[in-house]
Amino acid sequence: MEISTVRVIDRTNPQPPMVREVWKQELADAVRDPAELCDLLHLDPALAQKSKKASRDFPFLVPRGFISRMQPGDPNDPLLLQVLPRLEELDDVPGFVSDPVGEQAARQGPGLIQKYHGRCLLLVTGGCAVHCRYCFRREFPYAESGASPASFVDAVNEIRADESIHEVILSGGDPLLVDDTLLETLIDDIASISHVRRLRIHTRIPVVLPSRITEQLLHILNTTRLAACVVIHANHAAELDSVVADSMRRMSRVVPILLNQAVLLRGVNDTAESLIQLSEKLLNLGVTPYYLHLLDPVRGASHFDVPEETGIRLIEELRNRLPGYAVPRLAREHPGSPSKTWLA
Ligand SMILES: *Cc1c(COP(=O)(O)O)cnc(C)c1O
Ligand code: SF4
Repeated sequence: MEISTVRVIDRTNPQPPMVREVWKQELADAVRDPAELCDLLHLDPALAQKSKKASRDFPFLVPRGFISRMQPGDPNDPLLLQVLPRLEELDDVPGFVSDPVGEQAARQGPGLIQKYHGRCLLLVTGGCAVHCRYCFRREFPYAESGASPASFVDAVNEIRADESIHEVILSGGDPLLVDDTLLETLIDDIASISHVRRLRIHTRIPVVLPSRITEQLLHILNTTRLAACVVIHANHAAELDSVVADSMRRMSRVVPILLNQAVLLRGVNDTAESLIQLSEKLLNLGVTPYYLHLLDPVRGASHFDVPEETGIRLIEELRNRLPGYAVPRLAREHPGSPSKTWLA
């Protein structure tokens, strides 16, 4: 054995050695180069060339676990289409703008957005574990939205000062991207406000990085006085493999309400069959389909757009085929409106 490999145990230091949590390791190891993704999936390298160019304004990012659910050799794989940049992203299409849902106007100081009565969004971080190409916040100025531990103080104080707020929604980016320690502090602070009764977490991480659902996270959700609800984000049944199923099962032990929101996306889930499979699979995991959003017209995502009439027709087909509670509400966001608009 070489001397350099001998580990010296320092018994004067009671701290256990720092072990990086699995999810952080997986995140650090996520694929950030379209060429590597195309290589892994045996796709035409020319596709990667185009993707590199198309990711100019919004970098490419996908965890390997999500890639493992894609079909090798299929350039139209519904999971691949959600994450692989396409040249169409660079097109300027009339009506597709940088802030399609009027969030800038609804900002209430750092990290806080209130548009609807009784509930507010707290933007915990700008980061995500995956970059979805259709994301309506792809141009959100997170850097200036002040989402940092220090700014939570101001956000929490604003919530404390507004007795009409009964529900705080942690959003982002992806709120589960932050540490358990920071999350626990934040949730404790929110729970110290007596008029807040409910905590909702909007996150895609249980689907794209299921190892993030740690025992410590479950403990935090299990011990808060707030009624907890987690809204995950899956668009296609193939996103929900056995690893995701396992993390959802563990989560369902401590979170009484698990919901899913999906976005209706051209080429990904715009058929009745695909949406039926998604709903069925969600229900089997204990997750209730909540919203099916029509695409917000964000610049760079016009190639995902599905007409409203198609959405309405698809929901009608779902109603004919599924139990009532398996049918999501078709919703669209109109800037300035007091709620999301239900179209079906
Ligand atoms: C979607 C959204 C909510 C939550 O709306 P629900 O209909 O309660 O799910 C809250 N605040 C903002 C700004 C939103 O965009
Ligand atoms: S995880 Fe959510 S916020 Fe992040 S890029 Fe995807 S859709 Fe956008």
